[in-house]
Amino acid sequence: MSDFATRFAPSPTGLLHRGHAYSALRAFTAAKAAGGRFILRIEDIDTTRCRPAFETALLEDLTWLGLTWEQPIRRQSEHMVDYHAALQSLCDRGLAYKCFRTRKDVAQDMARAPHGQTAAFRGAPLPADQEAYRLAQGEPFAWRLSIDAARAALGDFEDLTFHEEGAGPEGQSGTVIADPDRLGDIILARKDVGVAYHLAVTVDDALQGVTQILRGEDLFEATHVQRLLQALLNLPTPIYRHHPLLRGADGVRLAKRLNSETLQSLRTAGVKPETLRKELGFD
Ligand code: GLU
Repeated sequence: MSDFATRFAPSPTGLLHRGHAYSALRAFTAAKAAGGRFILRIEDIDTTRCRPAFETALLEDLTWLGLTWEQPIRRQSEHMVDYHAALQSLCDRGLAYKCFRTRKDVAQDMARAPHGQTAAFRGAPLPADQEAYRLAQGEPFAWRLSIDAARAALGDFEDLTFHEEGAGPEGQSGTVIADPDRLGDIILARKDVGVAYHLAVTVDDALQGVTQILRGEDLFEATHVQRLLQALLNLPTPIYRHHPLLRGADGVRLAKRLNSETLQSLRTAGVKPETLRKELGFD
C-alpha cells in the first residue's frame, strides 16, 4: 500500500445529495488509483445540528454507491480529548483568548459593516478584571485564535504555503501562499460544543495520517487557516485537491439546505448506483 491517504468527512446534519456522492467518489477513486487509504470520518461535533439518523442514512448511501472505508470510523464527538489537548497547547502559548461576544454582538457588527463587506473579526482578550467578572457571572465564552499572537509566534506568515493540485474558486493552483488574515480570529472552540470545525479537522487529518485532502472548492478558504493551525501545532501539511462544486441544471450549486434531491430519494426511486456513478463521470 502506498502512503496516499485521503478522506471524505461529512457532517450528519442532513441527507446527502449528488454533490456529496461526487466528492466522495473523487476521493475514493483517487485512493484506489494510488493504492492508498480511503477514510470516512463523521464530523459530528455540532451536537445542535447532527442527528444519528443522518449518520445511518449516509452510511447506507455510501455503501449503496459502492464505497468501502477503513474501520473503525472516526466520529469526532468521541475524540474531544484530542481537540482539547490541541486547544490547551495553543492556550499555553498565548495563541488563544476567551471571547464573550454573543450572537447579537456579531449581528450588530455585521449590520455596521459597509455593504458587502463583512470584515473578518479581530479581537483581543478582555482586561483581566473584566474577564474575571464575566467568568464569575458564569458567562459562556468561545476560544478564538489570535492572528496577531500567531504571527508573532511564527515570525511571519511568508513561509506558510500549501500545494494545490486541483484549484480554488479563482483558479488558484500550485504553490499557494496561505493568507490566514482573511479569516480573522477564528473560533477554535465554540461556547456550546467545546471545539470548532477548523481545529477538529486539522487535528484529525494529522492523527489519521491524511496525505491528500480532496474536497469541494467551497472549503478552499478554510485551507488558509487550517495551514496556520498546522504550523502552530507542528503538524504535517497534506497536499490539497479542491474540486469544482456540482451544480444543478439551473446552475445553482447543490446544498443540503436547498433540498437538493437526496441520495436516499434516488435509492428509493430505484435508481441504480452504476447509473448515478456514470452520470457523475465515474465508470
Ligand atoms: N465536514 C465538512 C462538511 O461536511 C467537510 C470538512 C472537510 O472536508 O474539511 O462540509
